Order: sequence, then structure tokens, then C-alpha cells
Amino acid sequence: MTDWKARTRAVHGGVRRSQYGEVAEAIFLTQGFVYDSAEQAEARFIESGPDEFIYARYGNPTVRMFEDRLAAIEGTEDGFALASGMAAVNAVLMATAKPGSRIVAARALFGSCLYILDFLAGFGVEVAFVDGTSEAEWRAALTPETDLVFLETISNPTLEVIDLALVSQLAKAAGALLVVDNTFATPVGASAAAQGADVVIYSTTKHIDGAGRGLGGAVLGSAEFIRGTLEPYAKHTGAAMSPFNAWMHLKGLETLALRVRAMAESAARIAAALEGHDKLARLIYPGLESHAQHAVAARQMDHGGTMLALDLAGGKDAAFAFLDALKVPVISNNLGDAKSIITHPATTTHQRLPDEMKARLGITPGLVRLSVGLEDPDDLIADISAALAVI
Ligand SMILES: *Cc1c(COP(=O)(O)O)cnc(C)c1O
Repeated sequence: MTDWKARTRAVHGGVRRSQYGEVAEAIFLTQGFVYDSAEQAEARFIESGPDEFIYARYGNPTVRMFEDRLAAIEGTEDGFALASGMAAVNAVLMATAKPGSRIVAARALFGSCLYILDFLAGFGVEVAFVDGTSEAEWRAALTPETDLVFLETISNPTLEVIDLALVSQLAKAAGALLVVDNTFATPVGASAAAQGADVVIYSTTKHIDGAGRGLGGAVLGSAEFIRGTLEPYAKHTGAAMSPFNAWMHLKGLETLALRVRAMAESAARIAAALEGHDKLARLIYPGLESHAQHAVAARQMDHGGTMLALDLAGGKDAAFAFLDALKVPVISNNLGDAKSIITHPATTTHQRLPDEMKARLGITPGLVRLSVGLEDPDDLIADISAALAVI
């Protein structure tokens, strides 16, 4: 399987067939597993092999198929699935940080990630934030005392792109573990692991589900990290992925590359159609040459991403009028869905940030985030243009 390309691994990776030889993967909706004998039960508790299970909080065949398939796509030795993206972030940070550890993080993080880092600071973990797009700030912050570096490759909602090759080189020199939340970039077309991330996290709730159905998260890395560091924490603290969600996300992986490419192609067309529009103060899309980190994005990904950010010149009133006038995208706060989704971060996902922080992160009152779905891009462009015209 290792010489298959990612799309082939996405369809056949991790398959475990039962004695019935089913084509579509089975959902093993079971908490426990029966042993042939007391001796076998004892042996399995001492050491269980890759196809030997004990309890669904520790592992389950359907969840294992999902973990193995995603690891095969990302190109890591192993993976562990959890109940949500946040459970995955939490498990990685809790399993690695100790009082006195130093974590350096890019400041433009998903709000719940900031919450966990704050929480750790309360337990004596030193947390330093940098502007993830500034080489000088990374160089200054990544001292030899640094234990862990945490960043999102494409930030939410302003779509800053962080240079993984640069940060991984600096993290290695500092002896720090590089943990990358690669949810926005997706595993399609570019592996964060291949570009130097030691540990890669996905909220599988997003593009991997792809149809807005269920929560999930995954951590990918070396067998030593996944089995030695992460699994002991994850299996004892209970945020196990449900076998049903694992099955949905496993099937989501089969079409992920096709969906992400279609979404990114539409996003690029929408960006090109709207660039320079007189109702927009800014249009942010990593695939456009006008994007501040376009060169990094082009080197790091073979698509420009599935998300756009538009800053309406008329501020909050214009943003609200725009959202209310759209007929195709739905107003919601998820992303990576087949349905295009429009979000006003300043009043929803990022509402709780202090104004000064919003300003620093570029979350202006006019900013809207568009997750481009699988609709016909011509319908999206017509709908967005009509909604801009009524403001
Ligand atoms: C959604 C998201 C998360 C959290 O994932 P959940 O599945 O909602 O817990 C973390 N990081 C990023 C970048 C996300 O978009």
C-alpha cells in the first residue's frame, strides 16, 4: 500500500473485512469484545495486537479503520481518533505538557484552542504567542527551552498561511515538538507531516465528514508518539470517537480529494470574480497573488483552499445585509460542508474576543467568512454578486 498514491489509499487504506467479506466497511457498534478463554483475556490485557480489541474507549475495529486510512493519506506511521477536533487538540496538549513546559503558539488560533492554552497556563505551563506570519517572531520565541510549538497552517477566519518548512526547521533546532492543526488546509494535495510537522491534528467534523453530520477529531504522528504518548492519555480520559462517526468519516475520506478539489476550484473562481469589487475593502484568498502569503501557500498546497474571507467596506451593517440577502450559502458556523456556509466571525465564532484582540487579528466588523461548498460555482458567483448589489 505504501507505493499507492493518496487517492488510492483514501479508498482502500485500513480496510478490515469480517468473515462475511463485505465490500463497504462494517460498523462495529459494540463496546466490548468476547475472549475465547480466560487465558486469552489475560494475554490481551498484557499486550494487544493491531487487530485485538478490549473495549471501545481503547479502540474499535471501525475506528481503527478510520485511523489507519487517515494515517495512510497523511503519510504518518499511526493515528488516533477522538470524539471531536477539540478532544484531539486537548489530548495532544495534555499528554505532552507538564508544569514548567514552554509552549509557543501562533496567536491566530481557533477560540477553543486558546481556551485550552489558557487552562494549561493555570497549571504552570508557560505559553508564548507569536504572529505566525513573522519569521523574526518565531526566531525570537523558539528558544532552546521550548517544548512544543502549536499552529494552524491556515488561520481562522483571516486565512493567514504559516510557513511549515520554516517553523519546522526552527522547532527542530530548538528541540521542540511541532504540532499542526491542519483542518483548514485538509490532508488533500499536501501532507503537513511531509512538510515537517511532528504531529498533525484534524477536526474531522469539517471537510472529512463533508456533509455536516457528525463530530470527530484525529491525531496523526509516529507510532512512538501515538502509542507511547497520546494513547495512554486518550484512552483513560474517555473522549473516544463513536464507531458510527468513525464509519461516516471513513467513508468521507473516499471522496475527500474530489470534494476538496471541487470546492477549491470554485473558491478560486469566486475570488477571481470578486477581486476589486467596490463593496469590498479586502478579499482574502490564499490562491490569489494578492494574498500576503501567496508564495508560501503555493509552495505548501496544490490548491488555494476552500475558504474565502470578504471584508465589506460598509462594516457590520453591510455584512449583515449581505448575509441576509444570500440565497445559496446558509448562515452557520461550520465549514468544509457540501453546502456553502457564510459566517460573521465578529458576532459569532469570535464574539468573545476583546475588541483590541479582534483588531489585531484583522477580525473587523465587515469581515465575513465563506466556506465554499459543492454547488455550481456559477450559481454561487451570481448569488454573491446579487447580494453585494443590494447593500
Ligand atoms: C472546528 C475546528 C476545531 C475544533 O473541532 P471540533 O470538531 O469542532 O471540536 C479545531 N481547529 C480548527 C482549525 C477547526 O476549524
